[in-house]
Amino acid sequence: MNALRRFRQLLAFLLLLLILPSLCACGAESGEAAAEETAAPQRVEPKGKVYYTYFDTVSYVYDYAGDSAERFDDRSAEVSHILLEYHQLFDIYHEYSGVTNLCTLNKNAGGEPLTVDRKLVDFLLCAKNMYELTDGEMNVMLGSVLRLWHACREAAGEDPQNASIPAEEELRRAWAHTDISLLEIDEAACTVRIADPEASIDVGALGKGYATERAAEYLEREGAVGYVLNIGGNIRCIGDRPDGSGWVTAIRDPDKSAQDFACRIRIRDTACVTSGVYERYFTVNGTRYHHIIDKDTLYPAAYFGSLTVITRDSALADALSTALFCMPMEEGMKLAESIGGVELLWIFPDGSSQSTPGFADLIEEPEES
Ligand code: ADP
Ligand code: MG
Repeated sequence: MNALRRFRQLLAFLLLLLILPSLCACGAESGEAAAEETAAPQRVEPKGKVYYTYFDTVSYVYDYAGDSAERFDDRSAEVSHILLEYHQLFDIYHEYSGVTNLCTLNKNAGGEPLTVDRKLVDFLLCAKNMYELTDGEMNVMLGSVLRLWHACREAAGEDPQNASIPAEEELRRAWAHTDISLLEIDEAACTVRIADPEASIDVGALGKGYATERAAEYLEREGAVGYVLNIGGNIRCIGDRPDGSGWVTAIRDPDKSAQDFACRIRIRDTACVTSGVYERYFTVNGTRYHHIIDKDTLYPAAYFGSLTVITRDSALADALSTALFCMPMEEGMKLAESIGGVELLWIFPDGSSQSTPGFADLIEEPEES
């Protein structure tokens, strides 16, 4: 590989460690982890790659296992290929030559069924399952409502002085076109149709987590261990570090800057996803309107500042992070118990927090008050 390219990659990697500590699963951050560094001087430096072009976010692939440069290049190239494929299938704003994607399906709403890639069928079946599992709180057919909020957020970005929110009546009208049954999937024929011209798909709550899991699946098939994926905050650890110490990641304090954290957790062989009020929002008359919409009010969900989900499957973690953000803690707790293997941290708007017992076991240091 060209030395300049490698130097640039190293710079980008160092930069991302500096600017994104809360999203970076990086074990040398805490004092304890630093002490372990002394005890295990043979620990290898991680290799990392960063991609800026998928899902409108930043994606990282890290290898802590000490793979050869060639093997890491091959594996990260394949991860990149998988992300690109799903990025194109899930894009609701652009179409790509030779690809029937969600943008095509939305444009064709009310029309005839379209033949799509099997991967898209599998994803949409998963989306329907997640709808059932979350009692409709995570609904990929909420597109007509989300579009209205999205348009106001974009307009607020252009002209903050004249920012406004969608009219209640407009939201109610849009809501009439969000039934999950409007998404018609013929699994055998590999076709999909949106049955109502006013309806549309938005997979912002699930797409990244699903694609992350497919990339993780590939790495696991390859026999990789000691890898970490961070696809726009969807963290997925593949196995453990070679020395068995896991990775420490920080959960951001929703009220403060990205550098302030509520707690640090040590994780291995799992996914970790946080949904928070600070991720994407706009402000109207001093009130902040974020991007996760509660189907019961059609307004931004108001229960929490953030909610973190730890579970092995990144698609499930992503779906639950949005769905449980839209339900009271007790309901979320019950749902998590019924699924099993799901650990949660709720941070409330007043800064207090609650977690499942299994989550508390992962916390590295006492929470800061
Ligand atoms: P992020 O993508 O910022 O990490 P989430 O995983 O919580 O955050 O997903 C939020 C995105 O999901 C929104 O930007 C929107 O596109 C979509 N969305 C918002 N509310 C819902 C909902 N109740 N059901 C399904 N999708 C939603
Ligand atoms: Mg989500």
